[in-house]
Amino acid sequence: MKPVAKKTSPSRATPAAKATAKTKTITTIKTTASTRASTRASATELLAALRAAHPDAHCELDHGSPFQLLVATVLSAQTTDVAVNKATPALFAAYPDARALAAAPTDDVEAKISTIGMFRQKTRNITKLATMLVEKHHGEVPRTLDALVALPGVGRKTANVVLGVAFGVPEGVVVDTHVQRLSQRLGLTTETEPEKIEKVLCEKLPREVWDITSHTLIFHGRRVCFARKPACDTCTVSALCPSAFVAEEVGRKPKRDRGEPEGSAKNATATTKPATKRAASAKTAKPNANAKTASAKTASAKTTAATRTTAAGGDARPKKPAKTAKKPAKPRAATRGAS
Ligand code: SF4
Repeated sequence: MKPVAKKTSPSRATPAAKATAKTKTITTIKTTASTRASTRASATELLAALRAAHPDAHCELDHGSPFQLLVATVLSAQTTDVAVNKATPALFAAYPDARALAAAPTDDVEAKISTIGMFRQKTRNITKLATMLVEKHHGEVPRTLDALVALPGVGRKTANVVLGVAFGVPEGVVVDTHVQRLSQRLGLTTETEPEKIEKVLCEKLPREVWDITSHTLIFHGRRVCFARKPACDTCTVSALCPSAFVAEEVGRKPKRDRGEPEGSAKNATATTKPATKRAASAKTAKPNANAKTASAKTASAKTTAATRTTAAGGDARPKKPAKTAKKPAKPRAATRGAS
């Protein structure tokens, strides 16, 4: 950190002096956060602090019965609770229970949930699910994990939402994207797989708080500890959080490399390089006419890929590199263009 050249009153501080002071403050805060990490809070302490911050934490899927909660949770896969809550009032008004939904016309169910992603597949799942409930469970929602996960569209996460919220007997902690991110940022685990994170949380916390733990972490993740820009400056648990003010790269979904052979270091390097560097490399290349065309195509393809990456919330989803990048006229120029 650069020292301030001379003392200036706050009101007369130059922009440079203000910037220096701000940097100093941030550095102090980060150092404090780092110190806190060495005296890490227990899971129980963290949960208590989070519950104090979100005493109203609860499942945010609107429902009037275990059956409706089950259907709403199945519908919430790959979409938001808000989107589900917009569609389910009409669905549940027409088909409030398993017997009604099992007999519902497919096209009408599709029409009622058409604002939700993958609505055709979800229509199949919830109508089959309703049919199975009628045939095997007298139209009621079963109260065991094994029986729930045997239903169409129901996985362990959905089953535990229903067991915890509707019946108060969860068989695990629900680990969605928020719980996954928060668990890592709060130092509760270094695991990255939901199943392993769930196991760690279950070991660290008593069963009676498993259900509220997931709701509380989800509340905090939706309102404060955002994936891209966590609001550490207003977070009431920052004093206990080892990632405070340095959390942006913690708990984010790992970059996925699709479409390239496993262990391809060359391709991995090409696809993880920042978009700005790639663009700069493309500009500095000086190939001949053919190589120039190849380089321009490569740069265009990479810029498009970079745009996709940004739009996808930072997850790198690389496409196959343009073939033209592999056959430049001059090796040196092509190497620059493809880097
Ligand atoms: S907002 Fe910041 S301080 Fe709060 S839990 Fe998230 S990373 Fe920690």
